[in-house]
Amino acid sequence: MIYQGDSIRVEFVSDGIAELQFAAAGSVNKFDQKTLEEFSQALAKLAETKDLSGVIVTSSKPTFIVGADITEFQTLFADVEHTKQWVHKASRVFDQLEDLPVPTVAAVTGFALGGGCEATLACDYRVADTTATIGLPEVKLGLIPGFGGTMRLPRIIGPDNALEWITTGKNNSAVDAQKVGLVDAVVAPEKLRDAALDMVQQAIDGDLDWRAKRQPKLDPLQANDTELTMTMVTAKGMVAAKAGKHYPAPHAAIKAIEDGARSHREEALNAENEAFVGLTQTDACHAQVGIFMADQFVKGKAKKAAKQASKEIKTAAVLGAGIMGGGIAYQSAYKGVPVVMKDIRQEALDQGMGEASKILGKMVERGKIDHKKMAKVLSSITPTLLDDAVKNVDIVVEAVVENPDVKGKVLAQMEDVVADDAIIVSNTSTISIDRLAKNLKDPSRFCGMHFFNPVHKMPLVEVIRGEKTSDETVAAVVAYASRMGKTAIVVNDCPGFLVNRVLFPYLAGFAGMVDEGADFAAIDKVMERQFGWPMGPAYLSDVVGIDTADHCTEVMADGFPSRMPRDTNSAIAKLAAAERYGQKNGKGFYNYGVDKKGRPSKEKAPEVYEMLDITGKEFSADEIIHRTMVPMVNECVRCLEEGIVSSAAECDISLLYGLGFPPFRGGPFRYLETLGLAKFIEIADKYAHLGEMYQVTDGLREMAKANKSYFA
Ligand code: NAD
Repeated sequence: MIYQGDSIRVEFVSDGIAELQFAAAGSVNKFDQKTLEEFSQALAKLAETKDLSGVIVTSSKPTFIVGADITEFQTLFADVEHTKQWVHKASRVFDQLEDLPVPTVAAVTGFALGGGCEATLACDYRVADTTATIGLPEVKLGLIPGFGGTMRLPRIIGPDNALEWITTGKNNSAVDAQKVGLVDAVVAPEKLRDAALDMVQQAIDGDLDWRAKRQPKLDPLQANDTELTMTMVTAKGMVAAKAGKHYPAPHAAIKAIEDGARSHREEALNAENEAFVGLTQTDACHAQVGIFMADQFVKGKAKKAAKQASKEIKTAAVLGAGIMGGGIAYQSAYKGVPVVMKDIRQEALDQGMGEASKILGKMVERGKIDHKKMAKVLSSITPTLLDDAVKNVDIVVEAVVENPDVKGKVLAQMEDVVADDAIIVSNTSTISIDRLAKNLKDPSRFCGMHFFNPVHKMPLVEVIRGEKTSDETVAAVVAYASRMGKTAIVVNDCPGFLVNRVLFPYLAGFAGMVDEGADFAAIDKVMERQFGWPMGPAYLSDVVGIDTADHCTEVMADGFPSRMPRDTNSAIAKLAAAERYGQKNGKGFYNYGVDKKGRPSKEKAPEVYEMLDITGKEFSADEIIHRTMVPMVNECVRCLEEGIVSSAAECDISLLYGLGFPPFRGGPFRYLETLGLAKFIEIADKYAHLGEMYQVTDGLREMAKANKSYFA
């Protein structure tokens, strides 16, 4: 044995060849601080080992190395000096691997991401098996590779490919990695170790020139000035268009590669270190690392719930084959839970099946699935007009029209058809779960399961616990949502549940400015370009449906009459009265149609300006942001204080996945904390005269006074 640590062991495996194996005890292989320390010690031992002629780097697990330990980031990055020292030291460990006086081969299985990918880059050769996924996803955390990735990757696969990999953070299959020259061979999983041993032997025997392979990684990038300039200009254009100004990481990646291009390894690595440290101090990085942590927390909760669930959902039924029912049926079938889709109209069933075929057809076209999978999914959806077809399922998802009487009847009828232990859920978006539960003899097996439209794309499901819902029911529904590939957040019952409840104060804030004469298109522009929402509030209302939004304002006014009073004169109410329902009938705040090229278009509608009496009153960008975001954040705080949602992290994830809250802001609570609680209160107080929704809770004031964090 040459070296034995908790996560790494090194030993001779044949004549002169040593195997450095990542074998973390009790977890996946990752580069936490301790493993980096061990890596350095193991490499130091190897460097002084006599009779060493080659090294293979392997993993004892189905995954190579998932990357740095992100759970350490928040603490690590808290102090900039400490970050500088850490990244400088950590990145040099990879030089130790690259500088071993013998040829080195990485044997890659499963994930080799971030630091895991960078470890392979420091080797001379890379062999991957067919399960391998390789990439540098750091930009998704607001960072760039920190262990030499920006320096080595362009020197191995060329600056064009490297810029694409690093600025998009995409994952790559072994075959794609081989196509760009990152991987030297792809083999079956059972042949991986032998292939790596064979390759290192060829290098030892002189059949492969490993020194020539290593040298370019130590030298300046081999590209002429014109080529390099062209590459950089193209990359900058792509990043400006795709990532935009709110995400500094991809821009910094280009700069680091450009700054290091004409330098040898040490200087290029310094350029990377400096860019990395700068990014660790940005709000975007804090927000994106925060999202990662919150997502892990939510997934952990869902996993725990799945373990507690007494009932596994093996078959499902959806009542109603409309927009939502059809989407839910498709998603369930696609993820392997066969589903009965029941409606009272044959056209609805035909349309539901048609939609599923359309989505699957597109996936076949893109090569994501084959015809066999498409046929399998379609055959596991059983369209029916008969109640009886539903009797043997484990769960019934009610998605009929949003009418409490219709829903009540359908639910009561279903309870008589299904088995006593079957679960019944409603996809209602506004009706109280406790109210619907009254239609059931056994309300303990009932809860809300609120999907978002379009179901196959939107990652969130709100699971709404009613007063009488049992823990087992909640656990089984969370497990079913996870099985469907969705992130489930459990919330308590209240008007609008969580996501719609906090959306409506935001829309009311918007409507308030429009009432005062603001141009809604100018508000959309600020909320999209400056704040970063995928759609501004006017456009979003059109997409949701003006009639739906109008109906929701009624429900919210019923629930919270003093904070969200009904305003029959609001822009939404006026548009609804004029039957401008939004995208669904081609006219709302905007007019919708198709342009000359046949693409969907969105145009200004002069008649709406007249109808709403838009005088064009100017509001600054800050005013627009504050007048919409303060009510939303205040309502999030209320939901947390009232226990509607159980943590700030879950609230953030709900808005990110349910509404498209801008990821670089991390969610409403992260936004609040980035702004600073005291600053937020100062802003909100300025608008307190506009109504209760602008008024900060006592709880938030106390948090600010005590200098506390919602994420502590
Ligand atoms: P939809 O009008 O498109 O579909 C409703 C379907 O229910 C119709 O096909 C209708 O024929 C069918 N139906 C009516 N009575 C029935 C019965 N007794 N048995 C079986 N089927 C019956 O409506 P949708 O937009 O899919 O909404 C369905 C539910 O989902 C509503 O509760 C709605 O609030 C909720 N929801 C909608 C959205 C959305 O964006 N559309 C988002 C989240 C939740």
